[in-house]
Amino acid sequence: MAENQPKSSKPHISEQPVTLGNWHQHVNWINTTLILIVPISGCIAVFWTPLRLPTAAWAVIYYFWTGLGITAGYHRLWAHRSYQAGLPLRIFLACVGGGAVQGSIRWWSSKHRAHHRWTDTNKDPYSVNKGIWYSHFMWMILKQNPKNRGRTDISDLNHDPVVVWQHNHYGAFILVFGMLFPMLIAGLGWGDWKGGLVYAGILRFLFVQQATFCVNSLAHWLGEQPFDDRNSPRDHVVTALVTLGEGYHNFHHEFPCDYRNAIEWWQYDPTKWSIWAWKQLGLATNLKQFRANEIEKGRVQQLQKKLDQQRVRLDWGVPLEQLPVMGWSDFVAEAKDGKALIAIAGVVHDVTKFVKEHPGGKLIKSAIGKDATAMFNGGVYNHTNAAHNLLSTMRVGVIRGGGEVEIWKPHESRKA
Ligand SMILES: [Zn+2]
Ligand SMILES: [Zn+2]
Repeated sequence: MAENQPKSSKPHISEQPVTLGNWHQHVNWINTTLILIVPISGCIAVFWTPLRLPTAAWAVIYYFWTGLGITAGYHRLWAHRSYQAGLPLRIFLACVGGGAVQGSIRWWSSKHRAHHRWTDTNKDPYSVNKGIWYSHFMWMILKQNPKNRGRTDISDLNHDPVVVWQHNHYGAFILVFGMLFPMLIAGLGWGDWKGGLVYAGILRFLFVQQATFCVNSLAHWLGEQPFDDRNSPRDHVVTALVTLGEGYHNFHHEFPCDYRNAIEWWQYDPTKWSIWAWKQLGLATNLKQFRANEIEKGRVQQLQKKLDQQRVRLDWGVPLEQLPVMGWSDFVAEAKDGKALIAIAGVVHDVTKFVKEHPGGKLIKSAIGKDATAMFNGGVYNHTNAAHNLLSTMRVGVIRGGGEVEIWKPHESRKA
């Protein structure tokens, strides 16, 4: 896709309001042609182009190839270096990835590295915080101010001759692998030139484009966040199904150089399966994988965070350090005056409202004005965890010294 060039010293077009006179200057016409005008023309051409079964099958096969060009090639190999590929595999991925019509490897990977580095900020090229449609494709349709571009290091890509070759001839890659090659196979194979162009060419790349765009929009908007909820990436099976396994996006943002996006065997990640198969064939090496221990740590920490959030919403009683301290004699005196106070483990509880509801009946009355620690913890009945929780909501004070301490009684100290 085309880069936007700044113009003179005037404010960049993206900083100016859209008017009837300047709206066409806001549009990035190269991108708009490739992701809207040509695909929409393909949709219209469907009315004059019957779909033949071999062409449909070929379109599906070529969808998998070109989709893998993006997911296994552009994304996991070049943007994240999650494995190494020999020259034949790199050439294949550069060709079919070019056929997905989503920009050159160099352009795509630099944007994607910026997306990971500045996720959800102004420098994230497709920040979902600017709206779901913006993150889906408006960031390519509208010209962007280069001032806001998040810069990334792509020196490694500049040293890969396959990447440089594809970037320098990118227009030819779109034409050949986006349209001519799928048309040629259908035309030479079963005489369906037009169907090959419309279905295996244009509509197929429309689908691959929209599926990839869903990773930037839907995967930052829909689903669970089992590893970290500080940023927007989410895991969802629907996004995984349309993107050859790229939908486990919360995991991916946490562990970006892992060659897997789905870590469970039953999750849909054909990109991972393909990379694994290429390794068996000797085409790929050095598949990177985070240790299960590190992954589990992230998952447990997020679970703990969720639990803590639930915990603070509940009434656990006044914290002990905020309770007033009372002497043993005052406790006994207040209980004699009619307050239903009971001391358990050094903490005074006011059970006035609870006396009638106590499941153990009147036994509770025999504990008023006393230290009932032993009675509560098994002396009479070993109370349940729920009873402990309920009791904590009735806390009103803490006994000085934790119980009946003679030297702290006022009359005792007066005698001394
Ligand atoms: Zn993302
Ligand atoms: Zn990524």
